[in-house]
Amino acid sequence: MRKKGAAAVPEFVRKIIMRLKSAGFSAFAVGGCVRDTLLGREPHDWDVTTSAGTEEVEALFEKTVPTGVRYGTVTVIMDGVAVEVTTFRLDGAYRDARKPESVRFVSDLKEDLSRRDFTVNAMAMDEAGAVTDLFGGREDLHNRVIRCVGDPERRFSEDALRMFRAVRFSAQLGFSLEPGTLSALRRLAPLCKKLSAQRVLSELQKTLGSPDPSRVREMAGYGLLKPYIAEKAAALPLERLKEAPEGLRLPALAVMTAASGYSAGAEELLRSLHTTAAQAVCAERAEAVYGALAPAPDGQGVRLALCENQPEAVAAACAALGAYPLAEREIAAKRYVRPRELRVSGRDAAALGLAGSEISRALLRLARAVTLGESENDRAALLKKLRAMKKELR
Ligand code: ATP
Ligand code: MG
Repeated sequence: MRKKGAAAVPEFVRKIIMRLKSAGFSAFAVGGCVRDTLLGREPHDWDVTTSAGTEEVEALFEKTVPTGVRYGTVTVIMDGVAVEVTTFRLDGAYRDARKPESVRFVSDLKEDLSRRDFTVNAMAMDEAGAVTDLFGGREDLHNRVIRCVGDPERRFSEDALRMFRAVRFSAQLGFSLEPGTLSALRRLAPLCKKLSAQRVLSELQKTLGSPDPSRVREMAGYGLLKPYIAEKAAALPLERLKEAPEGLRLPALAVMTAASGYSAGAEELLRSLHTTAAQAVCAERAEAVYGALAPAPDGQGVRLALCENQPEAVAAACAALGAYPLAEREIAAKRYVRPRELRVSGRDAAALGLAGSEISRALLRLARAVTLGESENDRAALLKKLRAMKKELR
């Protein structure tokens, strides 16, 4: 059952495992960190699973944080690094394809591994690097497939988020979905409508941040995103998203789906997904810029958009149009002027008798004129233009 692995756990994890063991408990590194180690990737965090209960874990280590005692989890700080230490457990009855109502603590590693979602996430490793692999996780790593532990229909019915996780891990790792897992996912996709927006958003963001953000196509196409984004969105040129930095991919996706009528407006979509208000506002501006620049942005159009919009909104709109590099070049070259960079101010406009919204409209016109090369950013020239504008704006 166990085979000596080439890789071993880092020192801070070894210390945690050894202390638990010397107190008579069993303990292993488990889940994503084992998967990543076997793939030769650097795990971004380490989790430990143990037969010790939370109180026992708290008693054995100096620095602990009770992060999820109800679910058996205590965070142990070892050598300055946080490690989640969780008691072996089985998930109890599931409610509505969402989190288990209760968990049951068990004494056996085998049971703990059997509750985990995918074979590649269901392996444990001891302090010497020996791997416990009860469900063929190593073979699936080798064949680059995501396969549910146990019956996929049952596992997806228990927790519909696993369908998102299946696509997310396949995007992050460059794996495909094992056929049985995929067909269960296609049948059970409607269960995803019960998931909270926060859980959906987290998986969506991780998929967009993966080396292949266009895998969001599968989330849409299989209907996982249906409450937010229609299945038809799978036909959009989502490979464009890869050009954009991670933080702009969600607003760019929202603009693409909104523009084709496959989702609500970009801002509304992001609000319904519970993103930050700042991201939702960026999406709203990006949608307006998209409307002005579609179908094919050119440098001048981008510069004019930059006069009156945050660079992020312009960049997201360009990403949605497959022109992110153009936006990046124009932002870096900074051949545009924003109203507040003019050598005249709102006070000058007011002194000339302009009032209210006339002032901002006038300054924006000047900024556009300077950006287009029709005027120098020179105080005397701009004041002259302002005076001429006064009549027109009335
Ligand atoms: P990441 O690199 O994103 O942290 P991970 O595999 O560590 O990947 P986590 O979400 O941190 O993923 O979960 C840790 C482990 O807990 C998983 O590897 C898996 O074994 C188990 N797990 C997490 N969520 C679920 C779930 N919804 N159903 C079953 N098992 C789960
Ligand atoms: Mg993790």
